[in-house]
Amino acid sequence: MKILAVFGSTGSIGCNTLEVVRRHSGHFAVRYLTGNSNAELLAAQVREFRPAAVAVSDPAARAQVLADVGDITQVLDSDDALTEIAGREDYDTMVSSLVGFAGLLPTVTAIRAGKTIALANKETLVVAGEIITALTREHGVALLPIDSEHSAIQQCIVGEPSHSVARILLTASGGPFRGWTSDALQAVTPAQALRHPNWSMGSKITIDSATMMNKGLEVIEAHWLFGVAPAQIDVVVHPQSIIHSMVEFSDGSVKAQLGVPDMKIPIHYALTYPDRLAADYERLDIARIGTLTFESPDVEAFPCLRLAYDALHAGGTAPACLNAANEVAVAAFLRGEITFPRIAELIEESLSHVPHGAAASIEDIIDADRSTRAWAEAHISQTDFQPTTG
Ligand code: NAD
Ligand code: MG
Repeated sequence: MKILAVFGSTGSIGCNTLEVVRRHSGHFAVRYLTGNSNAELLAAQVREFRPAAVAVSDPAARAQVLADVGDITQVLDSDDALTEIAGREDYDTMVSSLVGFAGLLPTVTAIRAGKTIALANKETLVVAGEIITALTREHGVALLPIDSEHSAIQQCIVGEPSHSVARILLTASGGPFRGWTSDALQAVTPAQALRHPNWSMGSKITIDSATMMNKGLEVIEAHWLFGVAPAQIDVVVHPQSIIHSMVEFSDGSVKAQLGVPDMKIPIHYALTYPDRLAADYERLDIARIGTLTFESPDVEAFPCLRLAYDALHAGGTAPACLNAANEVAVAAFLRGEITFPRIAELIEESLSHVPHGAAASIEDIIDADRSTRAWAEAHISQTDFQPTTG
């Protein structure tokens, strides 16, 4: 029986994680849940899974959860409730599925407490990859990827000598605007960008998929998870999202991992690793799919991928700066304040204007995040901006 703390249980990954638990209740117990503002869903999860305690970040939602289920669970009311739970002794595995920079400190706390980390929150590795990698080594902690591409890579390299990995091929769906020109992208609305062709996910990662920043963040994530140089990580657009990624070995052989696009499968793999617990998720019917296609990414129309490689090459706090500017830009786009192409522009401007330096400590990362957010917030608008609707 693995005892879980599900951080961000009301989100897309959190709900999928609880569905995996529901289907294999003899194998998992849920000791902690956390949410932000969806009090109703969190209260329903508390009634079903009976955690020992919950953390609710939004004060109004916290009051509602307390009123609804305060008699059956402890509702923590401190501002540092997330890190307080992360550091508790009586759970085994943290499912790190908060979105964005908010995931960093709880994940660091759980690593320091020696927990196994099932990692969905890629931003943690993007902003602090070197520090996180060193911490996991120091504390003997397993960092098991939930991201489907990284789960695929892990499955490809299991049992292979590490020196035999020649290249990682990260697959990308290309998002809803694959094939669009830079001009056409000017008029994209949030509603259009939120319509992902293959995956149902939270709004931030859905916009990241549309700009291809998600793939850029995943390149950085792969670099830290698998110790592979940036030049050995390539991106290939594969619109069917059936091959979740590939690994080329030193003898020229290439392995791919395939499956239907369903996040429960990589979550299940991370939670049951190194076993493969039998499960009845939807099976891949490859003959029905018929054709798998591949193309190179369009880095002219989708510059975010290039910006992520630039930040990875720059090193230090540059990836934290990239991430912070992206979070500010995506939020502004979702509020209808900037155009879709302005997301990449604002990130590029932030990377060139905000000074970056060494990332020697978590405090350096927090400072870089804070100063980039301040700069990006102050430079959101552009002079020729026309608001979009929808
Ligand atoms: P989501 O928006 O659906 O859920 C985010 C969760 O975090 C929610 O429970 C929310 O309440 C909580 N949260 C948000 N902001 C918070 C804050 N400031 N403080 C405390 N809690 C906060 O996001 P998601 O799609 O589940 O993605 C979660 C993470 O997993 C992201 O890092 C994403 O990149 C990664 N990921 C998601 C998918 C997917 O299919 N959704 C796939 C691969 C990786
Ligand atoms: Mg992914």
